[in-house]
Amino acid sequence: MSTPRWICKTCGWIYDESKGDLDSGLAPGTRFEDIPEDWSCPLCGVTKADFITLEEYAAQRGGSSAPKNRPPRAKGQVGGEDAVVIVGSGIAGWTVAERLRARDPERAITLICADDGCVYPKPALSMAIGQGRSADDLVEQSGTDKAAELGVTLQANTRVMGIKPADKRLMTAKGNVKYGQLVLALGASQRRRPFEGGAADDILRVNDLASYRKMRERLDSGAQHVTLIGAGLIGVEFAEDLHAGGHRVTLLDLGEQLLGRLAPPPLAARLLQALKPQGIDFRPGVSLAALERGGASDCAGYRATLTDGATLATDLVISAMGLVPNIELAKKAGLLVNRGIHADPADMRSSDPHIFVVGDCAEVDGRSYFYIEPIKRQAEAIAASICGESALFECKPTAIRVKTPSLALNLCPPDLSVADLGHWVQESENGTACRMSFLAHGKAVGYALSGAEAARASELYETICRQVAAN
Ligand SMILES: Cc1cc2nc3c(=O)[nH]c(=O)nc-3n(C[C@H](O)[C@H](O)[C@H](O)COP(=O)(O)OP(=O)(O)OC[C@H]3O[C@@H](n4cnc5c(N)ncnc54)[C@H](O)[C@@H]3O)c2cc1C
Repeated sequence: MSTPRWICKTCGWIYDESKGDLDSGLAPGTRFEDIPEDWSCPLCGVTKADFITLEEYAAQRGGSSAPKNRPPRAKGQVGGEDAVVIVGSGIAGWTVAERLRARDPERAITLICADDGCVYPKPALSMAIGQGRSADDLVEQSGTDKAAELGVTLQANTRVMGIKPADKRLMTAKGNVKYGQLVLALGASQRRRPFEGGAADDILRVNDLASYRKMRERLDSGAQHVTLIGAGLIGVEFAEDLHAGGHRVTLLDLGEQLLGRLAPPPLAARLLQALKPQGIDFRPGVSLAALERGGASDCAGYRATLTDGATLATDLVISAMGLVPNIELAKKAGLLVNRGIHADPADMRSSDPHIFVVGDCAEVDGRSYFYIEPIKRQAEAIAASICGESALFECKPTAIRVKTPSLALNLCPPDLSVADLGHWVQESENGTACRMSFLAHGKAVGYALSGAEAARASELYETICRQVAAN
């Protein structure tokens, strides 16, 4: 008989009782009901309450466990003077719709998105190649089904071109839409840098299902060697996943180490040691200069010239140079923007009282989060506020589990405001296991853990949150 397995509804990570979660200190055989309530999904940070059994999950995908008290059917009208209109169908947009519907079964909700609105776990994009999963395999629910389940009017494949806050109106590619309250869940885009060469436009940026599909098509049509630009979180995850999928990988970064400012050099060095035996060729201090079609070898489609003058025959180039919040719509509408769209932590409201901001496009107290756990709490704050209740969004430190199977890594980097005011201290070391703390003003405000030490992340995270809150 197979052991019980539980799945995170948010990111698709599976808790298998027979394996436990060693990185979080849960020994193999730990029953799900015995897991402490403060445990969180190691991948995306949501709570135990966001897990269901795989059987329940399968039944839901088959539509047999639809909610007993179904919300009212969406009236089909797009927007309206009293409607809540959400723009964006990523985890942020759909979570606001869910939380709002849970509080108010009657409210008219419209969701507009430039894509098809389907529900998929974005963190899985950098684990799916090795698992051989296609873009379709990653889809958990179609936008139409999700909208029907929540009683939401979905206007998919529709780009919003402008916002007129004074008239509470959106201009879309399919006409104008009125709103009572607007929620911007616009996400972020991969940073772009101009590269020289006739094939520079062929460089892929993988940040959604459509771009993952394109990457899969290129890999499946014979691409052997992949060049990744950027050795940050997404770059190293893709490097190991592409290797697991049978591809050769060259990883470029202008910095001197993997994971940039997220990890202290000793941990970055351990990760490099773990990646090297897989043949992943990391080139520090180097980026792409130019890309031309036609490689030196038979199979290569491109010739890449690097900033150190070296050339490389490669079949596919993927850029992972970091994320930039999508702020253009808000900026044109006159909302307060900085790096992201400004949101008040009291209720995630923008500088306009009728417009809220959530997810990768938001900036709260000078910080943009590109992780799922804060999105869930931001969505809760917005739903509460729209329903006339209050729910403060608490800005917490970021806890990251790097999805590199060759080495467990849990990181809680210091906030940028203190990053230059402290230093990393090594607290223990034994082979691949290493524990480091970031000290600022004599207090630990960040950690970096590798190997067996990664299991201490939950315990240390609580301490760091307390220290940061007390400062
Ligand atoms: C490869 C990868 C791995 C990751 N791994 C992790 C992880 O392990 N753990 C973790 O916590 N996080 C991880 N993340 C980050 C996490 O997935 C994101 O923070 C989160 O999914 C962002 O959700 P979002 O809804 O804010 O944005 P998005 O998912 O980008 O959604 C934005 C939506 O806005 C729509 N949109 C944008 N502009 C317009 C417009 N003008 N008109 C209409 N619609 C528009 C888009 O069509 C889309 O529907 C990862 C991200 C990537 C790319």
